[in-house]
Amino acid sequence: MRRRDFIASLLAAPIAATAQESSRTRGLPPLTIKNVKVIPTSAGRGYQWIFVKIETSEPGLHGIGSASNVNNAFSIATAIDKHYGPFWVGKDAGRIEDNWQNTHTRGYWRNGTIHNNVMSALDMALWDIKGKRANMPVFDLLGGKARDAVPMYAHADGRDMNQVAENVKKYMEEGYRHVRAQMGGYGGGGMIAPGQGSRPATGFKGAAFDEELYIDIIPKLFEHLRVKLGNDVKLCHDVHEHLSPIMGVELSKRVEPYRLFFLEDVLSPEQIQWFRNIRQVTTTPMAMGELFTHPHEWVPLISERLIDFFRGRVSQIGGITAARKVAALCETFGCRTAFQEGGDNDPVNQLAAYHVDLSISSFGIQEENHFPPQVHELLPGTAQLKGGYLYGTDGPGLGIDINETLAAKYPLVAPRGGDSWTTVRGMDGSLVKP
Ligand code: MG
Repeated sequence: MRRRDFIASLLAAPIAATAQESSRTRGLPPLTIKNVKVIPTSAGRGYQWIFVKIETSEPGLHGIGSASNVNNAFSIATAIDKHYGPFWVGKDAGRIEDNWQNTHTRGYWRNGTIHNNVMSALDMALWDIKGKRANMPVFDLLGGKARDAVPMYAHADGRDMNQVAENVKKYMEEGYRHVRAQMGGYGGGGMIAPGQGSRPATGFKGAAFDEELYIDIIPKLFEHLRVKLGNDVKLCHDVHEHLSPIMGVELSKRVEPYRLFFLEDVLSPEQIQWFRNIRQVTTTPMAMGELFTHPHEWVPLISERLIDFFRGRVSQIGGITAARKVAALCETFGCRTAFQEGGDNDPVNQLAAYHVDLSISSFGIQEENHFPPQVHELLPGTAQLKGGYLYGTDGPGLGIDINETLAAKYPLVAPRGGDSWTTVRGMDGSLVKP
């Protein structure tokens, strides 16, 4: 090498090293969010589903997220279309945490159901994209499998105690180890039949909730189930927040002899301080959180060891990123996850929960949700439920995609009457809050 060339190479060295260094720290090559598509669909079954498809600067590479919310579907579609989508376009698709925090504070005010659904959809889609780029399922990016499959709990119901027992048994025979037992649906066990009982001369004549009736009947249902079915099955029950706080304490004590896997939503979100009172008088395990949208709701309950299962819905708390953080908090304080599903939920959110469930050590259980064949056609890769366990395809990313032609064939239709299933009333016509 000639001297002049040698000196030139020395001068060039720091530049080459810097370029090498930056390519090393950068990880994969830059990838930007190119387009945000909102895909609303009823799936031909009256669902209120909103999916987000994030397209990137790499041709053909996209991610899918769930922003579904049965009560706010149209608002969410508009929010993404007009506010969030334009904010995301051009951003680095690989920077999930940064995009999450940036979107979280974008509107200045944080949290809220619509905002959280939108954030969750972005988050899921970005994890999906990262997994596809790495050619790994999301659970592998999160640390790999901490269990072989995801156990689910089934929903058994019935008109009377014998029918509930029969239905629990059917699920046990299918392989479920965990079954939620209700009697007569939402508020069932505490309902006085339409027109019956002493009511005001005019006014509400429908089925009316009575909390004393409820806390008398439900322990009897679980006594019956234990006598009929023994102790092998792990039983859950959902109170749907219908009780006044002291009645919640009383019910928690009364069901203790029947060794529930958990008692869910025994208090309303407004009364969660009462979990301290429940903890003092009973060892019945507590599940709470499907109505939570803010860490200020769940952090005290988990960190003070007042609940045993966190029930948040992944698409309602901020997606995979938020669910992982809650799971870490649960692990620290001895709480477990039981991410919420419900019949209104969609396969993308279910898979987001699945990837978290598979990879965390604080997993407790996952709520069951199953879909008709046409949904599997609409969303190829929808997880399969077999013998009480959920199985994803374990393909790259979330392992699911959406058939946009089919989605367009099933447009979103607003529920008639604005959907009022949450409205329950007492004998005098007053509202019983969920
Ligand atoms: Mg519930």
